[in-house]
Amino acid sequence: MPRAQARVDLAAIEANVAGLRGRLTGDAALCAVVKADGYGHGAVPAARAALAGGASWLAVATAAEAEDLRGAGLDTRILVMGALCATELERAIGARADVAAWHPRFVESVAGRAPIHVKLDTGMGRLGTRDPDVADATVTAAGDGLAGLWTHFATADERDDRFFDEQLGRFRAWALPHRERRPGLKLHAANSAATLRDPAAHFDMVRCGVAIYGLDPFGVDPAAHGLRPALELRSYVAELKACEPGESAGYGRRFIASQRTCVATVPIGYGDGWRRALTNNGDVLIRGRRFPLAGTVSMDNLTVDVGPRPDVRRGDEVVLIGGALRAEEVARRIGTINYEVTTGLTARVPRVHH
Ligand code: PLP
Repeated sequence: MPRAQARVDLAAIEANVAGLRGRLTGDAALCAVVKADGYGHGAVPAARAALAGGASWLAVATAAEAEDLRGAGLDTRILVMGALCATELERAIGARADVAAWHPRFVESVAGRAPIHVKLDTGMGRLGTRDPDVADATVTAAGDGLAGLWTHFATADERDDRFFDEQLGRFRAWALPHRERRPGLKLHAANSAATLRDPAAHFDMVRCGVAIYGLDPFGVDPAAHGLRPALELRSYVAELKACEPGESAGYGRRFIASQRTCVATVPIGYGDGWRRALTNNGDVLIRGRRFPLAGTVSMDNLTVDVGPRPDVRRGDEVVLIGGALRAEEVARRIGTINYEVTTGLTARVPRVHH
């Protein structure tokens, strides 16, 4: 039994992409976002599964991520969404990637060597220019190298939020007249949440990340959107010991038995990305039953209270994410989002794709 393992169901990614594609308006394309090692799922296998499900573009955040995809033999269009310093731009060009731009000076340094997507900051307040005149000047500078116009939503995952509509309105007002003049331009704005919430945001392409992995962009229940979680995190019971009243488990004695019980030691910890904030905070599944984490999550191990007369045995599989135990629940317990739970799994956890 491996000490810790992330099992990734590629058929789930393929099915999620196919399901999302089926919801798109017109012939909008689906760009699968596989940055940060495919949100922890493994970028190359995730990308292949997404393409099998009908994605026709890939997106990453960095030039190095684009190189990894090309190095694995993937031949699809790849958009590098992030900012690029001069050396990174050269690497992105070497990887035959499309790049983001929001200033004519940057376009000059591209010098026709990569397709350009001009980004308007319609309210995210991060990358892109807020000034439509600067965006227009960037479009002009890009000339024949212009491939797309795009933006990114700040609040697509917050339901009933008016700011989303404001951003959408700003993007339409700027981008649609350009496309009238150049029909081949690709307009793209929607992340997973926007794709699910508003067909008006689909334009010519959507950029879906979290949903393709079967994670709910709204942080509640993937099944509500027909999504199937792709990743399961598993470990096993390495040690099982009786704990008399007053005996404790783990650093700082944060679990002290109040009555006779048994404690299982599971060899996974924050060195694997199972966060220390989960100390005494959450459950695992053993033999299909929930048991509470008991005591401090340490770097390589955690402990679980399996009760006084457990049918648990050494060597039993322990599920930390999977089945009824979703990444959304883990995230809620520690005040973060499902994205961070899977992306935060470290390189020490082998990814097994099936
Ligand atoms: N577009 C941009 C610019 C992003 O930064 C991201 C990811 O954060 C995405 C699309 C995909 O977002 P999501 O994973 O919510 O679908």
